[in-house]
Formats: sequence, C-alpha cells, structure tokens
Amino acid sequence: MKVVYEGGDEKVAKVYAAYMRGSPEHMVEFVESLSGSPSIDEKWVLIISSQFGCPVRCRFCDASIFYRGNLTAEEMLAQVDFMVRRRYPDGNVPAKKFKVQFARMGEPALNDAVIEAMLEIRRRYRAPGYMPCISTVAPAGRDEWFGRLLEANRKVFRGWFQLQFSLHSTDQKYRDWLVPIRKWGLNEIAEYGERFYVGGRKVTLNFALSPGARVDPSVISEHFDPHVFALKFTPVNPTVRAEENGMVNVFTEREADRYVFLRELREMGYDVIVSIGELVENEIGSNCGQLVMRVHTGT
Ligand code: SF4
Repeated sequence: MKVVYEGGDEKVAKVYAAYMRGSPEHMVEFVESLSGSPSIDEKWVLIISSQFGCPVRCRFCDASIFYRGNLTAEEMLAQVDFMVRRRYPDGNVPAKKFKVQFARMGEPALNDAVIEAMLEIRRRYRAPGYMPCISTVAPAGRDEWFGRLLEANRKVFRGWFQLQFSLHSTDQKYRDWLVPIRKWGLNEIAEYGERFYVGGRKVTLNFALSPGARVDPSVISEHFDPHVFALKFTPVNPTVRAEENGMVNVFTEREADRYVFLRELREMGYDVIVSIGELVENEIGSNCGQLVMRVHTGT
C-alpha cells in the first residue's frame, strides 16, 4: 500500500488516500477521527474501506463513482496498520474506545473477507477498547455472511460491537430509489437485529435526512423494538452526487428540532441520536469518496 495523500487535522480527523496493488486504479481512502472526544485515550475511531469504490451507487455517495472489486483482508488490515503504527509502533492501543468502522468506501456485506479482517484486528493488536463497527444497507442474498457476523458477535465480541443499518427512510419506494440494489425489507432487518442483539450496543438504524426522506414513527414502532434498536439521524453532507441529486441537507443540532418526528420517537422510548459530525470534516474532504475523487481529478 502506498499512501499518496494525507490531510486534515490531528485534533479532529485525518484522511488518507492510498494506492493498492501498485496502481491508481486501486485507490482507497481511510480516516482516523477523535469523533468529538477530548482525547485519543478516550476514543479513537478508524474508518476504513472494504471495496475499491462501491457497486451500490447510493444517490448521495461519491464512493460509487467507480467500482473495482473487493479488498482482501490484508488490504483492509494495511489501512488499520498504517494508522495504528504511526501512533503506536508497538501495537498497544490504549484508547478506552477504539472503534474500527468498515464504513468508508464499499458495502462491507458484499465482501467475505470483512469478517476475517475484523477478527484479525482483535488478534493483531493489544487493544482492550477495540469495537468493530459495520454499517450496511443490508444487501439481499448475503444471508451466509450475516450468519457469520451474528456468530462473531455472539461468540467473540458479545455485544461490544456496533451494527448499523442504513435505512434513510421508512418509505420503501424512496429507499429503493436512494439505495438502488436488492436489499432486505424492514421486516428482515428487524428480525435479524433481534437475533443479533445480545445486550451491549443496540443495533442502530441510520437515517441520512435528505429533503425527500420520509420518516414515519408509526412504521418504525411497528417493526423495531426500542429495547433492541437505537435511531441515528445525520445530515446529508455536500458530496458531488448529493449535490447532483438535490439531496444536500446540512443542519445543526439545534436546527434538528424542526423534525417533529424526533421528539415523537423519543417519546416512544427510542434512543435518538442526532449526529452532526464536524463541519471541519466536510472542509477536509472527509465524506465518503470525496478524497479519492479529488486525488483522481487533481482538484
Ligand atoms: S453509502 Fe455505502 S453502500 Fe452506498 S454507495 Fe456509498 S459506500 Fe456504497
């Protein structure tokens, strides 16, 4: 792996772009972030790519500009290793919460090697705070992969694991437009989440709130038990694809109050997280796929 770009701010987030397999065709980006915590010893979050580009083509995501297949487990580990060794050459990571998110470029459930990489990180470093995180749109036809993930959580991570489903809307038609692949419906996600949850971190449903996205609290409560599922709402940041599709929706925490359904959902007993992220992250190109695009086009 050859790192060809490094930018950002140590105190907020750093982004990297790297060539794999000796070729700019196989470019990835990865990020390290303090995620709002005051110190790296409290919380350190690594966000890595699992595919070269992404075949899913979500309407707001620049990672889907190209697609060149899956990374191997070693290629995923190379990203982690780069960020860990530059700070902790001995592989001892002291952070109380050391999250590794398979959430940058690529849909992790489409790559068999993700689970192997996730388990290997646990073996490779002395990192008591290690918590893997999977963000997925729940592609159809990947039941075996999801079965292995469930087993890893039950046997190895035992709830010290963050599973996130990117739903974005409760309206199936809109979801289909936004995330244009075959995927699980709300029933399947609910049923799997209930089996997955063994205590610890609740399964999170992510909603990137684009202007057209409908979020109906009654649909959520019909499917998802608030004892098992938490809800996370984020803005849609100004990526190239989000701008093209008129989906940019940036708001502050206070402005999020205008969404009445957030209050309703809280009243229904859900943990509701409004995650704004750092505006600085937008400026340093820390949104999915933006960096690779910039490095490719030289902007
Ligand atoms: S949001 Fe995730 S699944 Fe969708 S195109 Fe981007 S990387 Fe792929």
